[in-house]
Amino acid sequence: MSETRIIKLECKCGQKIARYKKEGRGKLIKMYLNMILEDVAGIFSRPLKTNEDVFCPKCKKRLATIYIVHGRPAAKINQGAIKTVKT
Ligand SMILES: [Zn+2]
Repeated sequence: MSETRIIKLECKCGQKIARYKKEGRGKLIKMYLNMILEDVAGIFSRPLKTNEDVFCPKCKKRLATIYIVHGRPAAKINQGAIKTVKT
């Protein structure tokens, strides 16, 4: 069994982004879209294409870019724009 934990993501401007169920240890680099528990800002719950950028609805900063990891759509986190809070 791999370890999972719930992480809250916020934009550095304070906008709440999502709650995510992370597998394994280490820093959050990417989020598999189907593991997002709650899309608080409503930015991941629409059809997203590979290489599409996802922006903060409040400050318009780029938060993530969509790409395919092991055949699964994922969002690669822009580390400079997002802060994570462990729960
Ligand atoms: Zn923002």
